[in-house]
Amino acid sequence: MKKHYLLTPGPTPIPPEVALKEALPILHHRTGEFAAIFSDVAESLKYVFQTKNDVFIVASSGTGAMESSVVNLLKPGDAALVATCGNFGERWTKILEAYGIKPQVINVEWGKTINPADIEKALKANPGIKAVYTTFTETSTGVVNDIAAIGKIIAASNAVFVLDAISGLAGQELRSDDWQVDVVVSGSQKGFMLAPGLAFVSVSAKAWKLVEEATLPRFYWDWRKMKKSLGTKETPFTPPVTLIVALQEAVKMIKAKGIENIWQECRLHAKAARAGMKAIGLELFGDNPCEVVTSAKVPQGVDGGKIVKMLREEYGVSIAGGQGALKGKIIRFAHMGYIGKADILVGFACLEMVLTRLGYKLEKGKAVAAAEEALLNG
Ligand SMILES: *Cc1c(COP(=O)(O)O)cnc(C)c1O
Repeated sequence: MKKHYLLTPGPTPIPPEVALKEALPILHHRTGEFAAIFSDVAESLKYVFQTKNDVFIVASSGTGAMESSVVNLLKPGDAALVATCGNFGERWTKILEAYGIKPQVINVEWGKTINPADIEKALKANPGIKAVYTTFTETSTGVVNDIAAIGKIIAASNAVFVLDAISGLAGQELRSDDWQVDVVVSGSQKGFMLAPGLAFVSVSAKAWKLVEEATLPRFYWDWRKMKKSLGTKETPFTPPVTLIVALQEAVKMIKAKGIENIWQECRLHAKAARAGMKAIGLELFGDNPCEVVTSAKVPQGVDGGKIVKMLREEYGVSIAGGQGALKGKIIRFAHMGYIGKADILVGFACLEMVLTRLGYKLEKGKAVAAAEEALLNG
């Protein structure tokens, strides 16, 4: 018997109230009963997204909704801009290239953030750019980009602003409409406290003009089909009924708590995580750390892969290591969704034990004490 503590930046733990909904008998999806749930969920998602735009619910992981934001907006030969500062930003380029679009790329070193002025310069130099693709919280490095500033710049241009908010939404403050983000993509398995398998995408009126002109191949991902069926309170294809029923519960919990309180809680968790890392001499990674996950450098002489493996296998605590070039070099500790204060303390206590066993010198209890202090006093 192993007890699991999931402190990874996706998937994240699921509250029992939500998990129980996943165990209920399947409803048929072309019924009034399901339509009522579906339309309630679609409406509530607007609150979580802080938007008045339609939010489509897609049966896929987050990447599916990212792909839908390429095929629904562009024509072959269109100009697009990608601003990337990590693994997930690079995914935009890969998807665009898979559809034959050669984007202009602003490539920022991993750990740094996008300079909004670079986007402004690129848009001024090429007013033909149809869409700008970037990332909110870059989960691979743990930084957050200045979406309000980027939104202001893109809103003043002809381009549409497409944002991967898969890990940040329902965790860190994101005001889709106020910050003028046209297309916001998210997924079920991070801040939403749900099992993996659903993706969400909100689409503005400005973006919708491109949807009508787009000619890249699309069938399953076609937003026009999704919009039409949203009007009749259903999905174009068989939805993952179970996940949508559970999503209704998760979104109800988010609404009951209040999105501002969730942002505030993540902010506090991030403070505690940063304090815990620093207290045992671990240097934070990244210029502008986000509030849903904390990245720290693996100390000299310690095998980063072993930290993650030993934590998981011997203590049941899952955190994430680095991706790509950062493999073995950083650890990533998530604190979004259903991850609570007690989980953070458990995570640090076990991290202290693992680091000690791997030969790193630390004073036991210091990370836990620093995290406690932050949680108590903000
Ligand atoms: C988790 C994550 C993704 C990937 O989503 P999938 O659901 O695995 O397709 C994309 N972007 C960011 C920023 C993420 O954190």
